[in-house]
Formats: sequence, C-alpha cells, structure tokens
Amino acid sequence: MANKITGVNGPITGWLDGHTYLIGLMAYPIRHSMSPTMHNNAFAKLGLNYTYLCFEIGNDKLKGAVDAIRTLDMRGSNVSMPNKKEVIQYLDKLSPASEMCDAVNTIVNDHGVLTGYTTDGIGFVQSLKDEGIDIKGKVMTLTGAGGAATPIAVQSALDGAKEIRIFNIKDDKWAQAEKNVKTIQEKTDCQVSLTELTDQEAFKQSIAESDIYCDATSVGMKPLEDKTLVSDPSWFHEDMVVFDTVYAPRTTKLMQVAQKAGVKHVFDGIGMMIDQGAASFKLWTGKEMPTDYIREIMF
Ligand code: NAD
Repeated sequence: MANKITGVNGPITGWLDGHTYLIGLMAYPIRHSMSPTMHNNAFAKLGLNYTYLCFEIGNDKLKGAVDAIRTLDMRGSNVSMPNKKEVIQYLDKLSPASEMCDAVNTIVNDHGVLTGYTTDGIGFVQSLKDEGIDIKGKVMTLTGAGGAATPIAVQSALDGAKEIRIFNIKDDKWAQAEKNVKTIQEKTDCQVSLTELTDQEAFKQSIAESDIYCDATSVGMKPLEDKTLVSDPSWFHEDMVVFDTVYAPRTTKLMQVAQKAGVKHVFDGIGMMIDQGAASFKLWTGKEMPTDYIREIMF
C-alpha cells in the first residue's frame, strides 16, 4: 500500500523510500554544483527512485568515500576536482577513454565492481550531434590541455575526428598536452599535433583550415571573462563551428567575435555540460536523461 507521507510539494510515495538508489558527487569544494539539481529533476521527471547528493570529499577522505560506495551499495558517483586522477587507484576497471585521459568523472557500481568513466568528451561530441554535426572526419583546432580539453581531444579522436591540432601556452598543462598527443597517436587513427599558442601565424592558419574551433581553456570565464584567444573575426569562416566550453557568461567574447564573423554554428558549453550529465545518467540508470526538459527548467 502506498504510504501517505507528505513531502515539501506533496506526497512522496515511491521515492526516497527503502528502495532508493543513491548517487554521489565527491569533490571539494562542491556545494555550488548544478549536478544535483540536474540529476534529481531528471530522476523525478522519469519517476526513477534515485537520489543524487553532494559530498565534500578531498584526496584525504577519498579512499574511505570510494569504499563507502561498495559498503553502502550506492549505484555510483560523480567525481570532480581534486579527485579525478587520484580516484583511479581505488577502482577496479576503467573505460578506454578514462584510461587514455588518466581521469574519471563517473563511477558505476555493479555489485561491488567499480568502473571509472569520463563523460565530458562524450558530452562534447553529443552536443555537436544534437546540432546535426558529426565529429567523424572533421579537422579541429583545439586550445587547451586541461580537465575539459583532454577528454574532448580523446573522445573526438576515438569517435573518428580526422585531425586535431592542439595549441596551448607553455604552462603547467604543457606536459599533459604532450601526453594527449602521444596517447591519441598510439591508440587512434586521428592525426594530432601540438603547437605553442605564441605561434600566432600557425594558430590563424590552423583555424582557417579547420571545420571546428574549440576553446577549452579558462580564457572567457571569470576572471578572464573580458578576454578571447581570437579577437579578429576574419580568422573564422562562416561554415565552421566555433565552440566555447565556457557556460558562464552565456555569451563569451569569443562567441561575440564568431557571431560578428557570421559563423553559422556558435555554441556555448551548456549543451556539453547537460550531455556529459546525460551520459553519466544513462550509465547509472540505463535511461536517457530528458535533456530538453533539463535545459528548459535550468538554463
Ligand atoms: P584546467 O585548469 O584544467 O585547464 C585550463 C586550460 O586553459 C589549460 O590548458 C591552460 O593551459 C589554459 N589556459 C589557462 N590560462 C590561459 C591563458 N591565459 N591563455 C591561454 N590558455 C590558458 O581547466 P578545465 O577544467 O579544463 O576548464 C577549462 C574550461 O572548460 C573552463 O572555461 C571551464 O568552464 C570549461 N569547462 C566546461 C565544461 C562543460 O561541460 N561545458 C566542463 C568542464 C570545464
């Protein structure tokens, strides 16, 4: 018999009861995250008896937290900074993309066996697909080699991108950029190169020859919201895709330059963010996240 407990907005029968599956998000700091709102609304919309909670966990408590996934029989968890690499040692298996990125953002618990996945790159490729653009066969210029750019490069290569030209500054992410090139060369048929961003002629020429320019650097978001790596609209051509992974502000300087150039496909990072969540959602529940609904209520 359905119980008659009244929740904040009415009866909560069949939800948050003895059968509820728990999903976590383990990171520090993390209270600002939009993921709980996204996943809990998607569970509610589909009538799935799951709940998603944030746990403020740094590297120091990570082993205990991952053990708890098994002990409490949680269905899984998201993982964010500073735990994306650190968590790998506590898992049983990794997806091919996760292994290539040396990072995990999603854990799935199958009866005590924990598998790590990375869904940011899947989100990037899917968000292009949502707009009718297939990464297969495309030439992409990509700025960045950090937490967002690495899975974008790896997943694009795995999904058949013809060529990826990576540009980065010589900062602490340069070694990761070199590693990304090596891994993609070893594991895929995608052509890949790395050039210093100071070589502006090469950067300009690469964009001119590309189907897609993706900026996955921190330029364009706070405190660099007034900056863009491309400020001259003549560098772009109308038929290309300009993709900024930044989602706040909604219209970045880069997007403004691309719009001024008349570029037909100019995207912000919201689609990628929703689609990476949808990929994790499917791994845990086996269901498609109602992404149109999530976009409508959240953005
Ligand atoms: P990160 O710190 O791991 O990497 C930052 C990258 O930016 C590095 O490659 C670094 O070399 C480069 N960079 C930093 N300052 C620069 C400068 N002044 N000029 C040129 N390059 C510079 O950060 P991250 O987690 O990879 O995040 C990068 C961007 O991706 C952010 O804007 C973030 O909002 C966005 N992001 C979006 C999503 C999404 O789902 N849409 C997900 C994750 C991150």
